[in-house]
Amino acid sequence: MFCPKCGYEYKEGIKKCPDCGEELVASIEEKKHPDFEMAMLTKVSTEFDALTLKSMLDDMDIENITGDYTAGYKVSLDTGKAWGYVMVNKEKFKLAKEVLDDFENYRRR
Ligand SMILES: [Zn+2]
Repeated sequence: MFCPKCGYEYKEGIKKCPDCGEELVASIEEKKHPDFEMAMLTKVSTEFDALTLKSMLDDMDIENITGDYTAGYKVSLDTGKAWGYVMVNKEKFKLAKEVLDDFENYRRR
């Protein structure tokens, strides 16, 4: 038996998740958030860049994660400080690279 919320497996006979109280199900094949192997696509220097790139990736159905570095985890780039990073589904990395190229061309204009 599995908890659809936590994803933990429990022994047969247990009806409710001891952790969250959710009713257990026989299988969790339809996970809400499938786990992709993520690959680092690029670092971005501003939040605006991150959101722009994210929307372009979304348009191409490329699963992505954007994140910002917290204080103490700032990275120096050629351009100075990075705001954060964009990661994508590793399987779609090639396509994501093309999106990134488009994005960079667009920024240069
Ligand atoms: Zn649970």
